[in-house]
Amino acid sequence: MKNIYFEEPVTEEYVRLYTHLANLFFEESKVRQPMTGDYQVSLNIEEQDGHYVGKAILQTEDGQYETTYEEKIELQWLSEKHQVKRVKSRLFLQLLEEETGMMQSWGVLTGIRPMKLYHQLMQKLGNREEVHELLRKQYRISEDKIELLAEIERVQLRALPDLYELKKEVSIYIGIPFCPTKCAYCTFPAYAIHRKNNRVDNFLDALHLEVEAMGKWLTENDIRITSIYFGGGTPTSIEAHEMDALYEKVYNSFPNMDKVREVTVEAGRPDTITEEKLAVLNKWKIDRISVNPQSFTNATLKAIGRHHSVEETIEKFHLAREHGMNNINMDLIIGLPNEDETHYAHSLAETEKLMPESVTMHTLSFKRASHMSQNKEKYKVADRKTTERMMQMGVNWAKEHEYIPYYMYRQKNILGNLENVGYSKFGEESLYNIVIMEEAQTIIGLGSGATSKFMKHGSRKLQQYMNPKDPASYALTIDQSIEDKMNWLNKIVK
Ligand code: SF4
Repeated sequence: MKNIYFEEPVTEEYVRLYTHLANLFFEESKVRQPMTGDYQVSLNIEEQDGHYVGKAILQTEDGQYETTYEEKIELQWLSEKHQVKRVKSRLFLQLLEEETGMMQSWGVLTGIRPMKLYHQLMQKLGNREEVHELLRKQYRISEDKIELLAEIERVQLRALPDLYELKKEVSIYIGIPFCPTKCAYCTFPAYAIHRKNNRVDNFLDALHLEVEAMGKWLTENDIRITSIYFGGGTPTSIEAHEMDALYEKVYNSFPNMDKVREVTVEAGRPDTITEEKLAVLNKWKIDRISVNPQSFTNATLKAIGRHHSVEETIEKFHLAREHGMNNINMDLIIGLPNEDETHYAHSLAETEKLMPESVTMHTLSFKRASHMSQNKEKYKVADRKTTERMMQMGVNWAKEHEYIPYYMYRQKNILGNLENVGYSKFGEESLYNIVIMEEAQTIIGLGSGATSKFMKHGSRKLQQYMNPKDPASYALTIDQSIEDKMNWLNKIVK
């Protein structure tokens, strides 16, 4: 535990911000006042001729570090509060970088959507060089991360040339909250599937009602759907006939299904894929699925509670191909327990034999509510340097095999303060992943634990609404969920 003591008064908001930044450098840290800590920080900024000038001093047991920063470019569209916050973050980050010798490639960015910022800056400034200079100097983002953002922006605008105009349409997320077993790192609404007390039947009945009600609203208001994504949980954990009935309901309820640009079904767990279910996907012409290995090492799959083998992943991938699945995504996770570069090299080599249309490279993150976070001592994970090397192996592999990065996001407590990046072959990008990450339009979430994000026309602000996570509560309160969502939707079309 690193105790950091601030000489000046620090509000709760800043305690959270400084703690978040300090945790990028130390396993755990506490920002305090007025007690003496391992580090004592004095941080002052003032406005001089319309610019912010800041000075920070860090006192440690071994000596004193001093740093200054002058904000040269005025960000007129940022409020004074936000400018001050960023300048203070930058000074604090500079101090910690100087003291620890550890550089943070994402600079002062603590949010999960750096791409959203990149798009906003491009829309405001319209000049790539100016945007890059700003990210470099004021957000202190490294050159390779700026390049990544620039490349993703180009790909996204090629895949969705109307990305900035998509607010007129919506995308639909349908959450099926069941999985064969729960993975150790998972915090999604995912319940081990069992049929006691009609749990699955009641959930599906409620979901059919919700689909029908939303379909009616979309038809009445003449709203187009950009993409539909079945996630969860694992949407292929229900029976083939249940999938068939659900898709029938969706196709009969939603308007202009022939104009929907993409329908994806997560079939993430290979142990849920069967010939019957693939035939149902075929029947509804759904050919974009995910078959997720996470790792190609059996011992790792066992350690994270996946309950399927590497051999089954490979077998189900081929089965999906034989049944006409033309756009398959595979997820890999960097930094799974007991894994190092050797394991990741093996996972990449095995992925290469399958050549899916897209590969999403996640970095392990310790989400607070997951089994892994609550039992941290049981799981040995790679250190920062090893994680960085694995990430670089993924970047090189993607380049070598002509996979292009097309979306990215970051998470709290992600190993090495890195990122998750979706790579795809040219033209095989998932449109849903782009619109959800860039918050480009309203997302209507159906099913348990599904989050809806409502965006009013002409605004960038989003309002969120979450359906109950537990399938039984979802089924019990379905009328209320439908009514609440209708109220939100009616507000955004006004
Ligand atoms: S398969 Fe996905 S949703 Fe299901 S438990 Fe594992 S991580 Fe969670």
